[in-house]
Amino acid sequence: MAAADYRLCDICDGKAFYDSNLCYEDGRDAPDREPYRIAGAPQYADEEVNKRHGYRLGYLGDWAVLCSDCAKSYMVCIVPVPGVDIDEEPSHGG
Ligand SMILES: [Zn+2]
Repeated sequence: MAAADYRLCDICDGKAFYDSNLCYEDGRDAPDREPYRIAGAPQYADEEVNKRHGYRLGYLGDWAVLCSDCAKSYMVCIVPVPGVDIDEEPSHGG
């Protein structure tokens, strides 16, 4: 199967899992939702391009993916976004 059918590892770009059946959407499909980030970074550096072409996947906000080989040496870590007040209760999508 082609690499485009897989979510790739954020370290080595190797196949992490088959994601062809996931319902990715772009700004035309879901203009009311923000594109998700990848390991804290926007998908596109240009804000307008990101808003138009950045993928949405349900209510996913940010993710990082490691293949099984890279997970032996790296880990995913969740930390507060710098400068954001985390005392507020998060609003849940859906
Ligand atoms: Zn990897």
